[in-house]
Amino acid sequence: MQLRIYDRTIRKRAALLLAVAVVAAACFAGACPFVSQADEVSDLKQSIAQKQKEIEETQSQRKQLEGGLTDVKQIISSLETSKSNLAAYVKQLDTELTAAQTRITELTDMISEKESEIVQTKAELEEALEREASQYDAMKLRIQNMYERGTDFYFEAIFSAASFGDMLNRADYVEKITESDRKILDNFRTTREYVEVCKAQLEEEQELLEEAKVKVEQEQESLETLISEKRTEINAFQADINDKEAVLREYEAEIAARNAEIKALEDAVKAEQAALEAASNPKRKYDGGMFAWPAPSYTRISDDYGDRMHPTLGIKRFHNGVDMAAPGGSPILAAYNGTVVAAAYNASMGNYIMIDHGDNLFTIYMHASALYVSKGAEVVKGQKIAAVGTTGRSTGNHLHFSVRLNGNYVNPWGYLK
Ligand SMILES: [Zn+2]
Repeated sequence: MQLRIYDRTIRKRAALLLAVAVVAAACFAGACPFVSQADEVSDLKQSIAQKQKEIEETQSQRKQLEGGLTDVKQIISSLETSKSNLAAYVKQLDTELTAAQTRITELTDMISEKESEIVQTKAELEEALEREASQYDAMKLRIQNMYERGTDFYFEAIFSAASFGDMLNRADYVEKITESDRKILDNFRTTREYVEVCKAQLEEEQELLEEAKVKVEQEQESLETLISEKRTEINAFQADINDKEAVLREYEAEIAARNAEIKALEDAVKAEQAALEAASNPKRKYDGGMFAWPAPSYTRISDDYGDRMHPTLGIKRFHNGVDMAAPGGSPILAAYNGTVVAAAYNASMGNYIMIDHGDNLFTIYMHASALYVSKGAEVVKGQKIAAVGTTGRSTGNHLHFSVRLNGNYVNPWGYLK
């Protein structure tokens, strides 16, 4: 008998517990049980839909990543067939080099973007996990409270009313508690779903990050192979011409062609300025200020301005600029305010820029992997105008920086420091 009563009590309590299991933590953390959680639930559902969209986007980014990498072997074999002369070969190789450098820059940007997205998703996940834990604790607490208050809490709540009106109010109160508890449970469930979707997104993003890192390494390797291929070709070309005189003539012809091109640009500028003056526009003046260092990422001066002994030919030659060795893709800055008078490519200078600073003072930047300004652009001192590369007659990443005054090359060191 005693046992049966006990048993009945247990069962009654278990039934209540079951009922209350639906009941979540209305009173947790001082939250008013009657404030609607519907808004919170719909916000969370929106976040879940958003996260699912982001996961799809990440997946399509991965698909994109899988295609379109530099295939060095294919490039070289197709270049071999069209290698009629060095200039054409170098020009084609330069196109590939530039494309590979661009892809590396894009991948690097993507990696840093993914890394910050991962930080963001991790924070969101952590926040959701905390919310989930506190909602869960609160539910447990609520159930425990109900249990401790006894089986007849609702009954008492209604029938200890002082009046019939009071009783109706209390019945209403009980109903509201039940309604609010159901919402809290909904909220808890949605939070769990959100946690799951955050975890899934994090996983996708991390996979993409790992893949992008691998691709960047592959692309970097391809780039290095292309650069060494180019170096080999230029050296082989040089070795082919055994006669020093022939090399010298070839070399001088190249320099002369380069200078003729630059001279032509200067003449064109003069003609344009004359036309501008005729249209009464003010002529650019150089105010005598010092230059900005044009390759801030440079690691060393690989060749200085002035007379140099050619390393293999034993011929004296004049180097008309300062070579600054710097990583491929690192910035090239405008040394001073001016107008871009050339932003182009040729097989000798590679991608190059020439800036008019006024009063017949020009600066020239050669062998870039990318150009960020076009002819006619007004630039200011320190502005990023190009990226370091090894296009044209160059065997490694560097900036060749020249200064011309009144139609002659002058020592850049007079303007630097
Ligand atoms: Zn140089």
